[in-house]
Amino acid sequence: HEINQPLNSIKILADSLLYLNKKGKSIETPKIFENLQKISDQIVRIDEIIKQMRAFTGYRQGQAATKCDLNAAVEKTHELVKHQLSLKEITLHKKLGGGVKDVPGNVNIIEEVVLNLVINAIQAFEKVRGRAKEILCETRLEEDKVIFEVSDNATGIEDEIKERIFDPFFSTKTLDGGMGLGLAIVSTILNGYNGGIEVFNNDSGGATFRVELPAAPVRETHE
Ligand code: ADP
Repeated sequence: HEINQPLNSIKILADSLLYLNKKGKSIETPKIFENLQKISDQIVRIDEIIKQMRAFTGYRQGQAATKCDLNAAVEKTHELVKHQLSLKEITLHKKLGGGVKDVPGNVNIIEEVVLNLVINAIQAFEKVRGRAKEILCETRLEEDKVIFEVSDNATGIEDEIKERIFDPFFSTKTLDGGMGLGLAIVSTILNGYNGGIEVFNNDSGGATFRVELPAAPVRETHE
């Protein structure tokens, strides 16, 4: 459906010009460029969907249970988004605990999870003005679980949509073209690692995404 819709638009936009041409009607040049621009925009959308779906299937295949240092993943993400944070005047705090060095999971994939959640938190501030904007990344060991939380003091998430944000293609970011695949991918990855993700609104009025992963490496079956 998500790919068919832009494909249909492309077909209609192209066919309407072809039809006029066939009928020998004159077509104003701006009209042609207007349609070409719309066609190009739809192609960009399809391209983005395909890229994300590729990444998605790649993750599913590459879930080698290697070890990942969760704190290092947070540091790396912080480095990656530093520029964005300063442009948007957002402060990212870190509270990094011990015992999270050997999280079972592929480093690149876990980094992708962390980055996804932090970028979502940054984007949640889009309409926030005139107050301090803060994100907190926290890691800690809780018994046999590793917890990773990303909290923000942006807008929080309304109850009506809370259940749907992990669905593929659900997005409220209509203006800047959110694909709605980020959280669906994140939750699939975490399930594959015997972990999970949940969300709740916090006391500061923003959202907290809590990731849980098993602390101990998954046992090899041939042991
Ligand atoms: P996308 O970012 O493309 O919209 P996601 O799957 O990453 O897709 O997110 C789905 C939706 O979840 C977002 O459109 C937004 O409504 C909501 N969301 C995610 N993170 C946050 C957050 N930190 N604060 C408020 N809403 C959020």
